[in-house]
Amino acid sequence: GEALAVSARVAPLGSRLVLLLVEDLTEARRIEAVRRDFVANVSHELKTPVGALSLLSEAVMDASDDPEAVQRFAGRMQIEATRLTNLVQELIDLSRVQNDDPLEDAEPVRVDELVAEAVDRCRHQAGAKQIIMAAGGTADLHVWGNRGQLAAALGNLVENAVNYSPARTRVGIAARRVVAPGGDMIELAVTDQGIGISDKDKERIFERFYRVDPARSRATGGTGLGLAIVKHVVASHGGEVTVWSAEGQGSTFTLRLPEAGVARDRALHHPDLD
Ligand code: ADP
Repeated sequence: GEALAVSARVAPLGSRLVLLLVEDLTEARRIEAVRRDFVANVSHELKTPVGALSLLSEAVMDASDDPEAVQRFAGRMQIEATRLTNLVQELIDLSRVQNDDPLEDAEPVRVDELVAEAVDRCRHQAGAKQIIMAAGGTADLHVWGNRGQLAAALGNLVENAVNYSPARTRVGIAARRVVAPGGDMIELAVTDQGIGISDKDKERIFERFYRVDPARSRATGGTGLGLAIVKHVVASHGGEVTVWSAEGQGSTFTLRLPEAGVARDRALHHPDLD
């Protein structure tokens, strides 16, 4: 009701105040507020890179006899195109998490397919930075859940790993089954050799709109929503996400999700979203 309306209006600030205002809302409602707010702002967000691309393409045409200028403009065009792609991807992810009960159409989902989709999603960016992506242990593993949402969760982690890593490093995705009291879980670990995250920031990165370095994030087209989406998805699937990181060395984000087979049971006991 009112809290949602208020949060929708001030959420772009990403301020502490907003978080306090919505503290009492369930995670699902938070995401709904995020989605509404994001959709409301997206026309503006999209206009900026589209406008820049249009100007830059004109500049390229005018500079056709100056190869250096053409190179420079083309580089900037690539940055704007990446930004557009990320915004559109974020929109797709948000539309995927909007339905009330993600487990309504839950099914066994092959882990190797999820990994392939996540890798595919940032193939272009990883290629440009000569980042090597490697996956292991995924064969014959299945998680239980909403395919689109699980793809959004893993996709965001892999995308971040590529985003926050320097050129010529490695991003690894490792999967394994772990025995847990309530039934086996599938663990998916995404490891990078990137900039890492300080202990102070680690506590906040899962908040929506929170970015460690907004200027850098803007340059990479980030919105600060990715990890909030990840957290929401794993919570609604009865899983969890954890992070290990050392500044300047890299990070590992680990998803734990119910294995298909035992998880149907777990899904029936509705995960505690509130
Ligand atoms: P963004 O759109 O900014 O990437 P996210 O919610 O996905 O938003 O991430 C929030 C912040 O957490 C990022 O802005 C970044 O500062 C930090 N972060 C996320 N993943 C990583 C990573 N693999 N390495 C370093 N920092 C990360």
